[in-house]
Amino acid sequence: MSATPLPPNATIGILGGGQLGRMSALAAAELGYRCHIYAPEADSPGMQVAAARSVADYEDAAALAAFAASVDVVTFEFENVPARTLEILAPLVPCRPGKKALAVCQDRLQEKTFLEAAGVPVAPWRAVHSLEDLHKAVAEIGLPAVLKTTRLGYDGRGQAVLRAPEDLAPAFARLEPKPLILEAFVPFTQEISAVAARGLDGQAVAYDAVENHHHHHILDLSFAPARVAPAAAAAARAHAMRVAAELDLVGVLAVEFFLLPDGRLLGNEIAPRPHNSGHWTMDACAASQFHQHIRAVAGLPLGGVERHSDAVMRNLVGPEGMAKLPALLGDNSVAVHLYGKASAREGRKMGHANRLFPRGTLSGTLSDTLADTAEAALLSGL
Ligand code: AMP
Repeated sequence: MSATPLPPNATIGILGGGQLGRMSALAAAELGYRCHIYAPEADSPGMQVAAARSVADYEDAAALAAFAASVDVVTFEFENVPARTLEILAPLVPCRPGKKALAVCQDRLQEKTFLEAAGVPVAPWRAVHSLEDLHKAVAEIGLPAVLKTTRLGYDGRGQAVLRAPEDLAPAFARLEPKPLILEAFVPFTQEISAVAARGLDGQAVAYDAVENHHHHHILDLSFAPARVAPAAAAAARAHAMRVAAELDLVGVLAVEFFLLPDGRLLGNEIAPRPHNSGHWTMDACAASQFHQHIRAVAGLPLGGVERHSDAVMRNLVGPEGMAKLPALLGDNSVAVHLYGKASAREGRKMGHANRLFPRGTLSGTLSDTLADTAEAALLSGL
């Protein structure tokens, strides 16, 4: 595909109006583009900062055709776009990333198969269509194990940890939609992720791998860089770039990994879009993940991924997260990003804060065993 960049003032269409669409639209504006956000919800975080907006259902053919006619390229801020949406849009306007990336990442069975074929090891898994399949899968994989929906799961929704034989039937009955996937329970020491970008010309880059900590299944903290052995960090970046190439991705993706006690990585999930664990790049790198996404989608050369500062990213979730705001706004080492959501419901991502440190602070002093006091200092007020 020729890499003729979109000219300044061209319009990038974004499907989805959440915070990822908002931050992509802000980056696009900085690069001289307009954004047209298409989402079913009016006054979404993305629409608040867009040059144009369409409020319509994702399968409304007439609205999608009008949207396609008004933009130069289409991208996505979430991967669960219905297949039908892409069938309508793809003949009318370039869609980046394309069908393959979305199809693979919408379905955990396809995702696991794809990761294995791309050379990324994953935990043992089995497809589960019936309770009989589940009994057979548990006999093969053992307990504990994790039973998950294959579609529409996020932030830990749609999964159950199976610890004893009596857990099987209730978990199978509860989880919808079927089919499900059973995965071996991974005794990981850390969860890390890497964000890669791939341009229209096939060039790929990856940011430093980061270490992620969750609270109630929602990402809470990312440490950039991950405090892991250099080989594991390098493997995460290499895997992310390979996955981007194998998906023929144009844009940004994140791959989440489990780090095993022996230092090996297992791939868990791919998100074919900017990712929460890449928000630190907004303040610690020359080009953020959102700039890279827009650059890729617009056919521009990719920007610098080098980390000029170490960073800790804290998600501001619900009322508890928002209560930290006054202190964070008064802290000179912290950059605050809010998403414009009116009500801080429990569990809702309202914004995030990046605390910056001189490069080497995390990797230098905290590479092996992390002292509680040192971590407390890094996080104080965050
Ligand atoms: P996921 O929706 O697949 O990202 O899973 C959400 C979280 O559940 C992960 O970040 C892990 O903390 C945990 N988890 C998921 N799958 C497994 C597994 N196979 N073994 C252990 N923990 C898991």
